Amino acid sequence: MCLTEFRIIAEALEGIEKTSSRDMKTTLLANLIKATPKEVIDKVVYFILGKIWPEWMGMPEIGVDEELLIKTIAKATGLKEANVDKMFRELGDPGLVIEDLKKREKASARDLTKFLGGGAAASSLSVEKVYDTLSKAALASGEGSRSLKINLIAGLLKEASPLEARYVARFVTGDMRTGIQDMTVIDALAIVFGGSKEYESIIEKAYYVRAGDLGLVARILAHQGLEAVRRIKPEAGIPIKPMLANRESDPKTILDKVGGKAVVEYKYDGERGQIHKKKDEVKIFSRNLEDITHQYPDVAELARRCILSDEAIVEGEMVAIDPDTGLLMPFQELMHRKRKHDIREAVKGIPVSVYVFDVMYNGGEDLLDKPLPYRREVLKRVIKETESFKIAHHMITDDPQRLEEFFLKAIEEGAEGVMVKAIHDNSIYQAGARGWLWIKYKRDYKSEMTDTVDLVVVGAFAGRGRRSGRFGALLMAAYDEETDSFRTVCKVGTGFTDKDLEEITEMLKPHVVSYRPSNVDSEVEPDVWVTPHHVAEIIGAELTLSPAHTCCRDAIRKGVGISIRFPRFIRWRPEKTPRDATTTKEFLEMYRRQLKKIEEPRA
Ligand code: ATP
Repeated sequence: MCLTEFRIIAEALEGIEKTSSRDMKTTLLANLIKATPKEVIDKVVYFILGKIWPEWMGMPEIGVDEELLIKTIAKATGLKEANVDKMFRELGDPGLVIEDLKKREKASARDLTKFLGGGAAASSLSVEKVYDTLSKAALASGEGSRSLKINLIAGLLKEASPLEARYVARFVTGDMRTGIQDMTVIDALAIVFGGSKEYESIIEKAYYVRAGDLGLVARILAHQGLEAVRRIKPEAGIPIKPMLANRESDPKTILDKVGGKAVVEYKYDGERGQIHKKKDEVKIFSRNLEDITHQYPDVAELARRCILSDEAIVEGEMVAIDPDTGLLMPFQELMHRKRKHDIREAVKGIPVSVYVFDVMYNGGEDLLDKPLPYRREVLKRVIKETESFKIAHHMITDDPQRLEEFFLKAIEEGAEGVMVKAIHDNSIYQAGARGWLWIKYKRDYKSEMTDTVDLVVVGAFAGRGRRSGRFGALLMAAYDEETDSFRTVCKVGTGFTDKDLEEITEMLKPHVVSYRPSNVDSEVEPDVWVTPHHVAEIIGAELTLSPAHTCCRDAIRKGVGISIRFPRFIRWRPEKTPRDATTTKEFLEMYRRQLKKIEEPRA
């Protein structure tokens, strides 16, 4: 038996999808990894996570929208596009559509072979073939690329068994719907290569230090073993998953939570940049580990001059500066840099300053497990400060009153608030984690709704009047980590500029589908559904209970969810993925905090 048979993967995924127990999912996944030859282990890991290659490499995505997938399935099965489209709406899952069609096809072929006296041929797809074909489809670009993609994927679907086709189609949509998350893979790898889940922390660290690239980590485990993974340290050129902050709104509670005394820094409103320097080569990665060096040629040049070490990874916030006044400008000013042809102009028109706040690696030394005061000392040595490249404005305090004053000053000067960071012996750099070593205290806490939230677009409504012919409002959802799904919070139609409205229709187009995606839980029926992709920052007057929305449904009261009163769009968050959105758990906490505030007698 050939161990790289794709059938084995499809069958394992089916088993994993069927069980709702996380432990069972992990065990079944571990069994699959055990049975996988080391030569293809990275490909198998990427496939089950629904990706061809890790995000940080900046390779193209498969780029097949609903329309193209319908054409592809029609081509693979000989069915009319209209009929495939109808099935999409009925089943809400392209994977089940193709599986169903292939089963019917197979049944009629069986009848025919029975009649003719032959045997039905099983699929002979291999992992390599599936992976190579899908990569080719992703790499297809330019004229004729749409039909090339259709041909390649349709060919694969034709050859596949019904079950295999289910997962190929789902892969193409980027959503495998098996409930396997990165952490499930980490646990399974720990079982296979360590002997038990206990080894998870070693693999987890490698995962964070190697850009969340589980295919790469699996390959090292399979070829060199757990010890090699334990020795992995940061490497200039490979991004590290960034440390994140929790939120709090009371200065005394904040200081208590970080252990009394803390370093308090301005929380600049720009774009996070993880700056990697190796000799003269500089790379800048976004919060999302995307290579954004080309958007910041000026920052790369500054880093070359101001990072004194030959090899280092430092982190800072890149902030737009008003060239006329030298004052901080809001984040939106950086958006021009997202458009390739505008970069030269943007660099000239709106200069950027970098406020560095951490260092994770310097000249061969892994600093992740070192306490913050140590890292700050290294940072001071490694950076030659200039007007445009300096260490974030900060102070050290244990006094809530002083913290509040510093916070107000930060806001006055155009920052979003402050970051309060623990400085005790265990104040390590928690790559990839949102813990309590860093706490953000933001301006928005001062408004009635205690904070802005980041929500995912899952639907859109046609506009009226001045907005007719475009989308006028969006259905927004929070992320439910428990079930890996999206639950609706509100419909937002305010806060968009005319330009935003113009862009929204184009932006959403590739993600519009005619059925409710199965990972979206909604009682509201929008004019079109949108697969979770775009994240927006939203503010409102307050959180309210709502029977219309499914976020935290039943958690406070039966049949009722949490919503936002008077929601208003603030900006897109292109650096966030849907799974970075505010979670339903956070909504519940925010709602409870809001209740407590109302109940507390005013002093
Ligand atoms: P937010 O929506 O508040 O920006 P986030 O989810 O993007 O949050 P958090 O970790 O919650 O990320 O907030 C920290 C963000 O604030 C960082 O990602 C970084 O971009 C920015 N930032 C600005 N100044 C600092 C600073 N001094 N230290 C750390 N992060 C800072």
